[in-house]
Amino acid sequence: MIVVLVETTPSGEAVEVSREAITFARSLSEAGGGVPVDAVVVGEPSADLVATLASYGVRTVHALTGEAFASYAGAAWASGIQGVRGSSVVVMAAGTPRGNEVMAHVAAREGVAMAANVLSFSGLAPFVVTRQVVGGAALEEMRLGDRPAVFTVAGHAVEAVPAATPGPADVQVHAPEVAAADLVARVVSSEEPEPDLSGTLKSAKVVVGAGRGAGSSEGFADLLELTDLLGGSLGVSRVVTSLGWRPHHEQVGQTGSRISPDLYIPCGISGAIQHWAGCSTAKHILAINTDPDAPMVTKASYAVIGDLHEVVPAINAEIRRRQ
Ligand SMILES: Cc1cc2nc3c(=O)[nH]c(=O)nc-3n(C[C@H](O)[C@H](O)[C@H](O)COP(=O)(O)OP(=O)(O)OC[C@H]3O[C@@H](n4cnc5c(N)ncnc54)[C@H](O)[C@@H]3O)c2cc1C
Repeated sequence: MIVVLVETTPSGEAVEVSREAITFARSLSEAGGGVPVDAVVVGEPSADLVATLASYGVRTVHALTGEAFASYAGAAWASGIQGVRGSSVVVMAAGTPRGNEVMAHVAAREGVAMAANVLSFSGLAPFVVTRQVVGGAALEEMRLGDRPAVFTVAGHAVEAVPAATPGPADVQVHAPEVAAADLVARVVSSEEPEPDLSGTLKSAKVVVGAGRGAGSSEGFADLLELTDLLGGSLGVSRVVTSLGWRPHHEQVGQTGSRISPDLYIPCGISGAIQHWAGCSTAKHILAINTDPDAPMVTKASYAVIGDLHEVVPAINAEIRRRQ
């Protein structure tokens, strides 16, 4: 069996990256001859959540309930997962802060290695995964020889896709004992976050990027027009936010948003490793830059070498003409 930790929103829905992790688990299951995929959720699941998980091919939903699971405690969640995993060959989660923390606890308890932020697998025997390291700037192949194999799936490494032939999922409610030591580090209070204005950027299919090459806060008119013409979002480098040209919620990179659009058009962005960490999973990159040797140009699928203040208006004019 494959066990997937599923995280939920405050309203009890499965978060997208957990649905992606289940989709990844299904492809593992198919490669492994149909090993069942089970989900672990914390708290009593709603009928809607069970129906969603069933539609993704989950066989059994294990619900961890009781006082110990009333608030987040990484070690307690790991202990609960260990209690329900039985003889599972894989224990996995989405590569969120909680997913990574809980899987690290699971791996430590099982005495096995843990691979964070896995993108794909390339064999079952031996089980070899490829994962992002250095904030997504490099890829590493890792062989997970021990069982259970414990890992997390990088956000947007796969698309969340319901199963072609889903069946019903049954629910097993557990209220396991949790050692006091596993509750030492736990959430004792929480506050509403500032409104996340980066939502549309993170999910945009097209992102127009702007860096220092924009020149000033007044240099964004053509870039914003291109963004509008393509129905996308604007994403910027840290230099742009540090200089106060654009707000921080538009920043892409290690200390900004991670984006995976179908098309990323970085204009006047050098492609520093911290920026690349946030855009390396874009499906296609069209770089516009005056420097043919800029890292972003050398990594891009396509590049236009030129001044963005000439190239972008020309693209806009051509799009308008075709419209
Ligand atoms: C801890 C840490 C975290 C960081 N996190 C992030 C992060 O999350 N996101 C991020 O972006 N950076 C981050 N940085 C900063 C990062 O290292 C770079 O400094 C930054 O990404 C560079 O921004 P830039 O590409 O806009 O500017 P530059 O590196 O100055 O590049 C400007 C580019 O524009 C080109 N150019 C200039 N004029 C034109 C023109 N008229 N037309 C076309 N091209 C032109 C140049 O050839 C050059 O390639 C971080 C740094 C640190 C240390």
